[in-house]
Amino acid sequence: MPNFDSFQELLTYCDQHACSISEAALQYEEAYSGQDRDAILAGMRQILQQMRDTVASGITSQEKSMSGLCGGDAKRIMDFMAQPNCFLSPIEMKMIAYGLATLEENSRMKRIVACPTAGGSGSVPAALLAVEHEKQVNPEQTLKGLIAGGVIGEITARRMFLSGSAAGCQAEVGVASGMAAAGLVEMMGGTPKQVVEAAAISMQNLMGLVCDPVAGLVEVPCVVRNGLSGVQAAAAATMALAGVQSFIPMDEVVEAMAAVGKLMHPSLKETAEGGLAQTKTAKIFTERFKAPKTVSEIIDEQKPPSH
Ligand code: SF4
Repeated sequence: MPNFDSFQELLTYCDQHACSISEAALQYEEAYSGQDRDAILAGMRQILQQMRDTVASGITSQEKSMSGLCGGDAKRIMDFMAQPNCFLSPIEMKMIAYGLATLEENSRMKRIVACPTAGGSGSVPAALLAVEHEKQVNPEQTLKGLIAGGVIGEITARRMFLSGSAAGCQAEVGVASGMAAAGLVEMMGGTPKQVVEAAAISMQNLMGLVCDPVAGLVEVPCVVRNGLSGVQAAAAATMALAGVQSFIPMDEVVEAMAAVGKLMHPSLKETAEGGLAQTKTAKIFTERFKAPKTVSEIIDEQKPPSH
């Protein structure tokens, strides 16, 4: 029975059974969930379809979030792709747009797939779907990428809490970028070792990332971080496919990230007491947002001045 307490165990299993990471993950899921393979795959297809639906609606919407802090940037990126001064490739532009789209939909209270959390939900769909769309990858390969990314998140979650309040944004967007990088390598036919290396490279680059949401809302800086993390994951995946290896093994990267999370000051763990949340602009916004005017105050304001 597969038991992956560590990434080394996952790689050893793949080696001994001559299988891919996604195949090992499926065997693991069959053993632990009690579901058969068809049921697991049906569930994963449903998750992938929801990611597609979220991206599709998010890239066309100009609706603002309830706070007004975000909304419309995914569409801006899609529109900018056709401009002559756009110097990124369509694949990179879509990674940015899809990541923004997912977080903007989250901020509009629309349905998203937490991957591994709502705050980190943009990286995996951004990376996988942009590559699928621009490289005409078979959707079944995308599904394998999602499954491989999933087992990276599962093993990481056994070692550390995946929440900004427990370990900072490194545990949300950071881990999501590792899952996305791993998923891309699987999708492109990389070896199990390359899949894990990609995750290690991507996650170490976001180690120490603090959680500092303005007004405690999952909008600023969360939305733009998700717009960027898919591109970073793609860069890490490319490095791994080219043969670049992480000097620090993935198991130790996760241990280090967990330790950094413990060392992180509480003001930097979703309390909105540090980082961007404590900038002058953020404080002004927070004061207005948390003390909205009452209806009678608004009516009073609209009355003509008495002389
Ligand atoms: S800054 Fe905090 S709330 Fe925002 S995505 Fe990162 S962990 Fe989540």
